[in-house]
Amino acid sequence: RDVEISDEAVRGTCDDASLCKRYAVNVGYWKDPYLDYFVRLPKERKAPEISRGYYARVQGVGRLLKAFLQKTECNCQIINLGAGMDTLFWKLKDENLLPIKYFEVDFPSIVTRKIHNIKSKPPLSKPIMESHSGESLLMDAHSLDSSRYAIVGADLRELPKLEEKLKKCNMDPHLPTLLLAECVLIYMTQDHSANLLKWVAGLFQTAMFINYEQVNMSDRFGQIMVENLQSRKCSLVGVDDCRSLDSQKERFLQNGWETANAIDMMKAYNCLPKDDVRRIEALEFLDEKELLEQLMQHYCLCWATKDSSNLGLAEIAL
Ligand code: SAM
Repeated sequence: RDVEISDEAVRGTCDDASLCKRYAVNVGYWKDPYLDYFVRLPKERKAPEISRGYYARVQGVGRLLKAFLQKTECNCQIINLGAGMDTLFWKLKDENLLPIKYFEVDFPSIVTRKIHNIKSKPPLSKPIMESHSGESLLMDAHSLDSSRYAIVGADLRELPKLEEKLKKCNMDPHLPTLLLAECVLIYMTQDHSANLLKWVAGLFQTAMFINYEQVNMSDRFGQIMVENLQSRKCSLVGVDDCRSLDSQKERFLQNGWETANAIDMMKAYNCLPKDDVRRIEALEFLDEKELLEQLMQHYCLCWATKDSSNLGLAEIAL
């Protein structure tokens, strides 16, 4: 019963992410015409440091992801773990950057909601139909499988079932594969996330894993962040893995990955193209620079690679 209660709270976090993104998109931080179909615009204002944090997250992940697509010339797969209402598939299609196949995984109830949105909104379903060829597209309440896009309801802690479901959707372990986890591993125990990373490293010979989540959670600011989430019954059970940038890297290196990098989001923010950063900094006045820095130092971007095809994945940097 306890597991059920906290899983429910974890599922609720997918709306937080989409609402904050929707708010930032509405102010003009970046463009995403598809978020509107998944979440309403929040009534309450979001602080500018929150929007800047999301900007750094979306741009940072996006740059690493595009570097992978470039190295593989889109001859690859993407598997978005705990994808929530993420809109990346539609944005990549618009940019002509679709991989051979794009997969999403989340809890069945989240997937049901996402499929309902896709079915009822032509701007979401049309791109899936357009990129589909061959036999008829498979769709039920818990999964959707088309030629280029599949969404699977599964628990990331139950790996044999997950593998079976992905394989049923033609996931090909021989293709270079990008795994993406944005604020997902932190909700799993140390053992569950280690097993997940090990499973991926064992299954794919050529792969990159991008992980974005909280870090440095043992200091005072981190503790306040943890308490905040706990007050919503959402326990960050993976918080011990997020003690430091080093522990983020170690987790990959100890579970079958060849290279691992981790930077905090302040560093990531400072790596982003200066002209665009200047543009977004002019959108909203931010008087608490220190708060922004503190917030950014408590999130990190970590990416790990294994590269038996020698595609040069180890060279990928922000
Ligand atoms: N990655 C999305 C984004 O950045 O917008 C959503 C992030 S949300 C904070 C975390 C997501 O991970 C939720 O949609 C949740 O349901 C999913 N999740 C967490 N633990 C999971 C598990 N064990 N199995 C499947 N999905 C999980």
